[in-house]
Amino acid sequence: MSSVPVAVVTGSNKGIGLAIVRALCKEFPGDVYLTSRDPGRGQAAVAQLQQEGLHPKFHQLDIDDLQSIRALRDFLRDTYGGLNVLVNNAGIAFKVQDTTPFAVQAEVTLKTNFFGTRNVCTELLPLMKPYGRVVNVSSMVSSSALGRCSQELQQKFRSDTITEDELVQLMTKFVQDTKENIHEKEGWPNTAYGVSKIGVTVLSRIQARLLNEQRRGDHILLNACCPGWVRTDMAGPKATKSPEEGAETPVYLALLPSSADSPHGQFVSDKTVRAW
Ligand code: NAP
Repeated sequence: MSSVPVAVVTGSNKGIGLAIVRALCKEFPGDVYLTSRDPGRGQAAVAQLQQEGLHPKFHQLDIDDLQSIRALRDFLRDTYGGLNVLVNNAGIAFKVQDTTPFAVQAEVTLKTNFFGTRNVCTELLPLMKPYGRVVNVSSMVSSSALGRCSQELQQKFRSDTITEDELVQLMTKFVQDTKENIHEKEGWPNTAYGVSKIGVTVLSRIQARLLNEQRRGDHILLNACCPGWVRTDMAGPKATKSPEEGAETPVYLALLPSSADSPHGQFVSDKTVRAW
């Protein structure tokens, strides 16, 4: 079994994920895995980085597919005996002008951004080695969407005692409420992406708390972050940051030195902890 440190970035065949892999290849002292749901797109991205003189490794990963997540888990356990850095970057967003019914957008968006990310965490967090770093790429949109939730929902999402099961129930309820077209009456904002990212930020707060309770001596740091508004296929060419600039905060959190004991369980943008 290899004792080389290992980092994994989900959804890294393009966009911010690819830029995170590029930066980690330069700065992380170990193997860096570019992952993609489509092996062809993944290998093309690996070839692109190789042309730049970098040496990422590749593993298939579709975060919507539990079998795919478990295959990566088994590979990491058997090859490296665990994992040092996990960046949950994979995500989707419908375009504003997309005419897909809102209830479908809600189901599809939550499936990947919240439930897929949660499944990756469920399978891979137990593999995290001491001094491991976990970065969940959320969005500032999670904060603005939180502000548009009912007071009751805001209180739940800001709670320091909300459990993962309760969060899953709330995310499931949002999808169900959109199907009955009662989501606004039930206190939800009219944004599937925003609610999915509320889920990612709150999940990160819960997971950090569980690490404190169950693995305090392991010094693992886990945070949610916003990369900023970044020129990718998701956000379009008018966004203000390049993918490399968008990668800066996730990479900063992924490479927090072993002497650091913070940030942990925070929502971070521009390398700064933000109020939730
Ligand atoms: P992007 O260019 O659209 O890239 C998204 C990546 O996620 C792609 O590699 C995509 O793979 C992958 N992906 C989607 N669903 C997946 C699945 N089920 N399994 C595995 N990979 C999957 O978007 P981006 O702008 O780089 O976004 C990266 C992250 O940053 C997302 O979580 C996004 O929400 C967040 N974010 C972006 C911005 C921004 O301004 N761009 C702002 C705030 C937050 P395919 O190529 O196969 O589709």
